[in-house]
Amino acid sequence: MAEQTVAHAIEGLKESNVRITPQRYAILEFLIEHRSHPTADEIFKALESRFPNMSVATIYNNLRKFVEIGIVQEMSYGDAASRFDFGVQKHYHAICTDCGKIEDFFYPGLEDVEMASSELTGYQISEHRLEVYGVCPNCQKKG
Ligand SMILES: [Zn+2]
Ligand SMILES: [Zn+2]
Repeated sequence: MAEQTVAHAIEGLKESNVRITPQRYAILEFLIEHRSHPTADEIFKALESRFPNMSVATIYNNLRKFVEIGIVQEMSYGDAASRFDFGVQKHYHAICTDCGKIEDFFYPGLEDVEMASSELTGYQISEHRLEVYGVCPNCQKKG
């Protein structure tokens, strides 16, 4: 399953004429296998032993490239480091207030919110994001 997804992502790179380097491959693989919405720093820590010459900046630049092509989504939170998410299917996030775990969930799109807010504010709305906060099952068990 993961391998298939990586292959699919590689196709996306080829179509966009982005060279597939071992680093790029490893970053994609990490995003797909972990699904933890990692920061560039977390990816760096996970891969630095395999690529001793790679810097956080390299990872960041590659992630930006993936976002440009549309195979990765960036979740930016103001000052905090951006998190990166593989896949383009629209989904929402449940975030644990104890451990910070981010879980994807799929829910019918809230496009009517965009329309309503556009009417109410006069803004031309381009996207929306929904995050719900609470305590994840694991943390609930811990009490
Ligand atoms: Zn938790
Ligand atoms: Zn996600």
